[in-house]
Formats: sequence, C-alpha cells, structure tokens
Amino acid sequence: MNTVPGLSPYSGPPVAVVGNGPVGQTAALLLARWGIPTIVLDARPARDTVGSKAICQQRDVLDVWESVGAGRQIAEEGVTWSRARTYYREQELTCIELVDAGSSPFPPFVNISQSRTEQILDERIAATPLVSTLWSHEVVVFEQFADGIALTCRTPRGEKTFSAAYAVVCSGGRAEGLRRSLGVTFDGRSFDDRFLICDIRASLAGWASERRFYFDPEWNPGRQVLIHPCPDSTYRIDWQVPPDYDLDAEVASGALDERVRAILGDVRYEIEWKSVYRFHTRCVDRLRVGRVLLAGDAAHLYAPFGARGLNSGVADAENAAWKVAFAGRGWAAPEELLESYHHERHAAARENVEVTTATMDFLVPQSAAAAAHRRDVLARARTDAAARELVDSGRLSEPFWYTDSPLTTPNPTRPFAGRPPRGAAPPPGPGVIVPDLPVAGGGSLRGLCRDGLLVLAAPGASVHVPVRTPAPVRVAAMTSLSARLPGVLGARAGELWLIRPDAHVAAVVADEARLRDALCRVVGLVERREDEDGLLPAVG
Ligand SMILES: Cc1cc2nc3c(=O)[nH]c(=O)nc-3n(C[C@H](O)[C@H](O)[C@H](O)COP(=O)(O)OP(=O)(O)OC[C@H]3O[C@@H](n4cnc5c(N)ncnc54)[C@H](O)[C@@H]3O)c2cc1C
Repeated sequence: MNTVPGLSPYSGPPVAVVGNGPVGQTAALLLARWGIPTIVLDARPARDTVGSKAICQQRDVLDVWESVGAGRQIAEEGVTWSRARTYYREQELTCIELVDAGSSPFPPFVNISQSRTEQILDERIAATPLVSTLWSHEVVVFEQFADGIALTCRTPRGEKTFSAAYAVVCSGGRAEGLRRSLGVTFDGRSFDDRFLICDIRASLAGWASERRFYFDPEWNPGRQVLIHPCPDSTYRIDWQVPPDYDLDAEVASGALDERVRAILGDVRYEIEWKSVYRFHTRCVDRLRVGRVLLAGDAAHLYAPFGARGLNSGVADAENAAWKVAFAGRGWAAPEELLESYHHERHAAARENVEVTTATMDFLVPQSAAAAAHRRDVLARARTDAAARELVDSGRLSEPFWYTDSPLTTPNPTRPFAGRPPRGAAPPPGPGVIVPDLPVAGGGSLRGLCRDGLLVLAAPGASVHVPVRTPAPVRVAAMTSLSARLPGVLGARAGELWLIRPDAHVAAVVADEARLRDALCRVVGLVERREDEDGLLPAVG
C-alpha cells in the first residue's frame, strides 16, 4: 500500500466516499495514502465493465494515479499519443505537438478504456486495507453534525446508517437526488445533437499514435468525425450524427457497415462497443456543503471534446483528499481549507465549462450566425494562419491554475498571463502546477510534493528556515534535488518556493517572514499563528 512516510496513526472516524466510479476510487486511494480509512458506498450491485467511455487520460492524471501505484500500469497498457491533427475536408489544417515543460515519466496523453482503468484501480483498492467497498448501498440521506456526518443507505437488507468524518460525493451525473438533498443546483444546458461512438478493432497502418479530427470529411459531410487510437488495435470513432439518428435502424439496414467502411476502406473490422450520446454542460453552484464535498460528474458535466470529464474529476479527487486529510488530522483550519475546495474546483469547473462550450459552439453551432462563422473560419483556414487559430476541435484537458485561490500567496513580480496557447503550460509560479523531473536519490519532484508541504530554496536562499508545522514539511535546496530544477521553475536567486501536496505552487517569496505567512495561508490560517518556537499550531 502506498502511504505518505512517517505519518502518525489516525484515530478519527472514516471518510465516506459515495460512488465507486473512477473518481470515487481515486479519492479513496488518495485518502488511504494519508492514512485515512474510507468506506466506499455504491448503489450498483457490482462493477460493470461495459463500454470504454473516458479513453483519454492526461499526463498529470496519470501522475496522480501513480501516487497510488496505478499510473505506470495504466500508461503502459494504454496507447501513447502526443500529436493532434485537425483536417478540413481533405486538407490538414493544424498539427499540435504536446510539450512537456519538465521531463515527466508520463506521456502527454494515453488512451485506455475507462473500464480497464477502473479494473486497475480496483486491484489497488484490493491491496489497500484502509479502503472498504460496499456495493448495493445507495446513499439516500445525509445528516450533518458539528463533528461528523451520518449517511443513510438503501440496501437489499433494508436501511443502514454509517457515521463518517466527511463525505466525498462522486456519484456521477445522474445523482440528482443527492444533489437535491444537499441543496445544490445543477444549472447548465443539455443539447439535442447526437454523437455516435464505435470502438472498432482493425489493423490500420500509421493511425496508432495520433488523434485525428476531421471537419466536413467526404464521409460525414457538414459534420465532423474524431478518431482516437486505443490499445489492442482498437480505434474510437466518434461521428456527429443528425438529431433524429437511429442506431438500430442503421445496423439493420447495413448503413453502419457502409459508414465504417467509408473511413477504414476494405479491411476486416469488428465493432467492440457502440453507443449514441448527447452532451451536457452543467455545474453545481456549490462543491462543498458543510462536511460534504462533491467531485467528478456529480459536480460537473462537460461535452467530451477535450477529454475534460474524468481528467478533471481526478483533479477534484486529489484536491479533496489532501484537504480532508489535513482537516481530519488537525493540520489545518478545517473551515477555510474545505471552503478552498469549493473555491478552487468551482473555478476549475467554470474554466472547463467555458472551454468546452466554446468548442461545442464551433462544432455544433446553435444559430445561423454561428453556423456561418464556422463555415467562414474553416474555408479561410485553408490558406490563412490566423483563421486556423480559430478552428476549435477541442482544447485538450490541462491542470487548472489556482492563481486566485485563498491558499495562494500572490507575487506581483510573477503575474499570471492567463490561459496559455493550446498544448502549452503556463510558466511555473503561484497557483500553477510544477513540472515534473527526476530528483537525486531516485524518485521525482512530484513524488516529493505529494508527501506533504515542500519548500524549495533557490540558489542563494538558506535551507535553514524554521518551517515546523503539524503537517509533514520538508525543505530542500533546488540544486540538491536537480541541477536543472532552478531553470525548469524559472527560479530567481534567493527565492523560496512553497509547494502544496498536489504539486501546485502556493507561494514564491523572498524571505523567511513571508514564507511563514504563506505556510499559514496554505493551511487556511487567515492570520499568522505560531508559538514562540515558530511552530504553526495544530488546529481544528
Ligand atoms: C462517450 C463518453 C466519452 C468520454 N470520454 C472521456 C475522455 O476521453 N476523457 C475524460 O476525461 N472523460 C471522458 N468522459 C467522461 C467520463 O466518462 C466521466 O467523467 C467519468 O465516468 C466520471 O466518473 P465519476 O466517478 O465522477 O462518475 P461515474 O463514473 O458516473 O460513477 C458514479 C458512481 O456513483 C454511483 N452512484 C450514483 N448514485 C449513488 C448513490 N446515491 N449512492 C451510492 N452510489 C451512487 C454509481 O453507481 C456509479 O458507480 C466520457 C464520457 C462519455 C459518456
């Protein structure tokens, strides 16, 4: 079992995780890393592994899964790709190569079916005694108290109630009843446009390492097609289809075979899974209600172009897990730290809604003016580089930047320049996730971050800074970890970088006093509080 080294025993009540989908699985495993026992409750009788759903997992998500022992296996079993090509009719418009600002052990994206990811996470859960899984337990009621929460479940043997310190609700998009019982709204739009997905096994030379997006190809005129390589010579083909599309009728008439052959040509193929979906763009108004945090599809739904669904759900799980662990262990001001979960992940959800809405407005115009704009941009993009920039086939998932978070200490000399160009990461600085790279003695920078708070001293800064906190904290000279690190971070002489357990930069400061303020801030202490030895007090 992967745990943070040197943890004291935890004696409080367990944390309830509602929903054993991939976000709930990740939350439970991450809480176990902090030594917190969890009960995972799911309404279904067992895991069903039908269909591939989320296939496209981003590097930083693989990295989170690696912290619970699953990332490498998921990456190795998946198909690696680092190039995204976009075509208009027969002409290639753009080819984006995804870059790594550091040297992560993981590729920018791997494609693997969500079913397989869930199986691998289940294997890790089976090897993690701190996680107890209960199927056929549908949570129907939450009751919140000053010191905990009670969850009532409907089970085949009648109602059961569980006590927990906190609950992380990862019950998926359909969990309207739970959202209602928590008093949160789920506003947004559901669209009538239909998309057909087929996972097709075939041998196709040259298709295996890139994502291809076709606007108006001759085999789907006026609409688009997205093709992703997957393991075992399988390809995910996603067609935009008319609103009245009837899959059964197309299968029966042989038109589905014609549709597939129009792309693949005369090769042998097998359809492994097929499904027609509509998309939704919705987000709760609150991601935290007292001791309950909402994560994943329970909190937000995005159109799938950009692969922001599960990838952002995993980021929710990570953000929730370290904050619940810090609050539960008395390492932080619980009210402020848990409230920062809402602040940070709601901002991330708004960014995802904005990005995916812009994509869908381009892909599936909802007005005559938007349709004319799409036609005009695509036509001009054949010859005009500026128009090519306006072609939106989905901005791929990326970690959010917590630049406006109450936990982040701003640094006026490092202003945030806003959303970076597609495929690029913002330069490291307050709120931004640090790039990964190998460090001396084995392991990686991200691995060190995940074991608590980390202070990195740039050349010229002292490593003898008194930073004793109840939470695990480590101070290291950047160059003792890697000669490349100051350059990769863009660190200036004498700076102290405070990094959070999710590898986001909490502060870049120039002296010890500011570092201590930043340490208080990152654990939710609004005003600096410390005893005469400079030790931040246990709180909560
Ligand atoms: C066609 C398609 C393609 C996609 N492609 C991508 C992609 O490439 N990349 C990406 O990142 N995302 C993608 N997504 C989105 C992704 O599948 C979801 O974001 C992901 O499944 C969300 O996981 P989750 O754990 O939040 O919820 P779910 O997987 O829905 O799991 C929720 C769980 O909660 C349980 N539950 C519900 N109510 C209760 C209750 N009251 N009590 C107890 N348990 C309950 C359910 O039984 C279920 O097991 C895609 C989705 C679709 C449909």
